[in-house]
Amino acid sequence: MSSELTSLGVSEARAGLAAGDFTSEELTRANLAAIEARRGLNIFITETPEIAIERARQSDARRAGGETIGPMDGVPIAVKDLFCTEDVLTTAASHILDGFTPPYESTISGNLRAAGAVMLGKTNMDEFAMGSANVTSHYGAVKNPWKLADGKDRVPGGSSGGSAAAVAANMASCAIGSDTGGSIRQPASFCGIVGMKPTYGRCSRWGMVAFASSLDQAGPMSKSVADAAIMLGAMAGHDDKDSTSADKPVPDFSAALGQDLKGLRVGIPAEYRMDGMAREIEDLWQQGTQWLKDAGAEPVEVSLKHTKYALPAYYIVAPAEASSNLARYDGVRYGLRVEGEDLTDMYEATRGQGFGAEVRRRVMIGTYVLSAGYYDAYYVKAQKVRTLILGEFQDAFEDVDVLLTPTTPYPAFAIGEKMDDPVQMYLNDVFTVPASLAGLPAISVPGGLSAEGLPLGLHLIAKPWDEQTLFRAAEVLERAAGFDATPPGAVG
Ligand code: GLN
Repeated sequence: MSSELTSLGVSEARAGLAAGDFTSEELTRANLAAIEARRGLNIFITETPEIAIERARQSDARRAGGETIGPMDGVPIAVKDLFCTEDVLTTAASHILDGFTPPYESTISGNLRAAGAVMLGKTNMDEFAMGSANVTSHYGAVKNPWKLADGKDRVPGGSSGGSAAAVAANMASCAIGSDTGGSIRQPASFCGIVGMKPTYGRCSRWGMVAFASSLDQAGPMSKSVADAAIMLGAMAGHDDKDSTSADKPVPDFSAALGQDLKGLRVGIPAEYRMDGMAREIEDLWQQGTQWLKDAGAEPVEVSLKHTKYALPAYYIVAPAEASSNLARYDGVRYGLRVEGEDLTDMYEATRGQGFGAEVRRRVMIGTYVLSAGYYDAYYVKAQKVRTLILGEFQDAFEDVDVLLTPTTPYPAFAIGEKMDDPVQMYLNDVFTVPASLAGLPAISVPGGLSAEGLPLGLHLIAKPWDEQTLFRAAEVLERAAGFDATPPGAVG
């Protein structure tokens, strides 16, 4: 029974709870047991079993009284350790946030809680969400539950690697992730789950540890497209506490599901056909195009000429914003303090020891591109490129409703690979970063397995605020792909 429970996504969990097949406490305990059984994957930084049981019991009591409070009532979720959680350690996987226990709750985790969700714990991630492999965490690498016969541990992707692995390994019905340049979609692809980045401004950033504020967006990571739609409905909405959160009505995302794609125009951007891209990725992309066509959509070749400049522009804009956001970690206000001879010495010692190598690299790149002598040459130029990329997407969306691309250029790689050259690591995001720069909603859906047997994702990008069309097309891909593989050894 308990292993069947852990494999349930949000929709099935809700149905079972409503039918009285099991209680939230039973479901939650099954997930907690799964987390405990597979601690070796290093998926959680902090487990919160007491909170989980307490909230599950509250949900059961509500239900027994004939009342539920929202669409997530009684559903166990994992929370990326980037989201501040009241009285629960929040580290962003950084040493510099040692012992930081916020007295407040992020809007996103708070919205889910208000919708009845039961928090199981805080998931591991790349430090400050900087990375694509979950290897920069102060708490060590996360292991992808997907393994091959070679026995090598693979990365789960990053930066939301713990959240993706928790869902794939059947430790939670769904998880919260965040995406700055691909951190929801790329790990979703590597772990064989659904990961969705909403339109910038759809979800509040309040209480989310900031990386690059003009790019950061929270989003759902789930076992199905239908689950992502439910979860986003509970997360999204205007928030006075975040000036970039949009004052837009939140549509019923689930209403977009279960349709065909008659009349939908799907753009296939030629520039995403990268040199050296694995044949199997290209094949999957073509297969995806055919699946959409079979459902009534019309594929259209489109050109997005500036795509190749997206990654370099991102790796200027994101570090620039990060260097500014991370200035607040000074040994005075949060977490770690390493004493020094004087104030400056204390700052240097705290930041030198508190930040890991990748974070230090980004702070240095960021301060460099923002410095007086280089601001125009790098930062301003990158912002201009960003505007061109946005304009190009807008032009493409005059003609098409969604774009289809692969999520990643390759499947999950072994832990330790791509570590010598940061640029190799940055290339993970080549297909996800353009939508981030343009603030567009995008989703990764499992499309199939690589020749070796690792998950591969298909990626859809839609117009701003048109998450409905994104979900509608994604669900068609999901149905056609019929991806129901679970990682060997997943609990359930
Ligand atoms: N991998 C990208 C980076 O390292 C994106 C990370 C993210 O989306 N948070 O910046």
